Amino acid sequence: VGGTCVIRGCVPKKLFVYASHFAEDFEIASGFGWEVGKSSFSWKKLVANKDREIDRLNGIYIKNLDAAGVEIIQDRAELRDANTIYLVDQDRTVRAKTILIATGATPFVPHNIPGAAHAITSNEAFHLEDLPKRVVVVGGGYIAVEFACIFNGLGVETTLLYRGPQILRGFDDDMRDGLAEAMIKKGIDVRTQANVGSIEKSGDVCRVTMHDGSEIETDLVMYATGRVPNTIGLGLDKAGVELDGAGAVKVDQYSRSNVSNIYAVGDVTNRVNLTPVAIREGAAFAETVFNDNPVSVDHSDIPSAVFSQPEIGTVGLTEAEAREQYGEIEVFKSTFRPMKLTLTDIDEKMIMKLVVDKATDRVLGCHILGPDAGEMAQVLGIAVKMKATKADFDRTVALHPSAAEELVTMR
Ligand code: NDP
Repeated sequence: VGGTCVIRGCVPKKLFVYASHFAEDFEIASGFGWEVGKSSFSWKKLVANKDREIDRLNGIYIKNLDAAGVEIIQDRAELRDANTIYLVDQDRTVRAKTILIATGATPFVPHNIPGAAHAITSNEAFHLEDLPKRVVVVGGGYIAVEFACIFNGLGVETTLLYRGPQILRGFDDDMRDGLAEAMIKKGIDVRTQANVGSIEKSGDVCRVTMHDGSEIETDLVMYATGRVPNTIGLGLDKAGVELDGAGAVKVDQYSRSNVSNIYAVGDVTNRVNLTPVAIREGAAFAETVFNDNPVSVDHSDIPSAVFSQPEIGTVGLTEAEAREQYGEIEVFKSTFRPMKLTLTDIDEKMIMKLVVDKATDRVLGCHILGPDAGEMAQVLGIAVKMKATKADFDRTVALHPSAAEELVTMR
């Protein structure tokens, strides 16, 4: 219980991110006078400790559901009609007046690549028996970028293959360029305009052949090429529930499908695929249906982070989006070396950027690349949601010495 986020997503991912940062932390420590003895890393210990923590969280969820009087039936469920659900293992049906579909999404691997079956997805990455010596990660989105950084931090020789001109399409261009540069400096072989033709496996070695004929030899191939809504075989057609072209349940602003008693929230609706959004949608559904208080979720200005190394934190419009939607905008940007790195040889840069509507002075977007960017984006989210202006930022006194002070001192 807990779904993708808790069991094979956000939570274990962040634990892996922490684990993979220590090599660099030891390097930083030496600049501050610390001599750290010979370090060694145990993948098995990390996975076991991670699993223990996930079990603990799973236990808490079950306990809370029990305490609320929820009956949990552990089975595969398939709809037979708008009110009837067939439980496959138990071979019986249950009926309900209201049904909520919250089955999430599942990794998508392109089927047209010969040998794609040799590749793993993030699902399996959380349970690898051993850490490979070399890995090829395919994709340029959140998961590909985060896992490439995790593997690299843990000492795996890492190649990232992305089909387009720059990773993280949809993010602000300065963040994309800055992160790609930093990842390359950290030793990741980031290849753009790179398309996989086929994958062959002989023994323990995988050979990835690219469209341009080049080959990469590796121990593990991981695909992170997006996720698709988990609606196949759910019997939604029998209940008459309409899906969109991507297989997501089509819903209105109250998360109601075209069938009046069937609702859907989270990634299965493919709106904004983030855990806290699904939680909000779920709470709004409960309020609407069971408290006679129609609540819809505002999907604008949602802060988000990419837990890459360095991290990206962002809220609001990118520079390109703002230019398109608002025409005249002003852009404030600051690039500097984080203070923590000043006693080291690491020449990584932090980038902060504010995108401002010229007509109203409203801050339309904030973008940060660097340590704790996600933490800052959460707080900046309040300011952006409150429609703060650049003048509001400017009259806020800096907190010194911090990185975030740059946000209120950009002129
Ligand atoms: P994304 O949609 O973020 O990225 C998919 C990547 O795969 C893109 O770079 C895309 O390229 C590429 N791609 C898609 N199809 C193909 C193909 N056929 N061949 C080659 N490349 C392809 O998906 P992810 O899997 O990274 O993440 C899934 C979801 O999980 C996201 O919606 C995200 O919101 C969520 N998530 C959030 C995290 C966070 O908040 N930190 C962390 C991890 C996941 P192109 O850009 O060219 O289309």
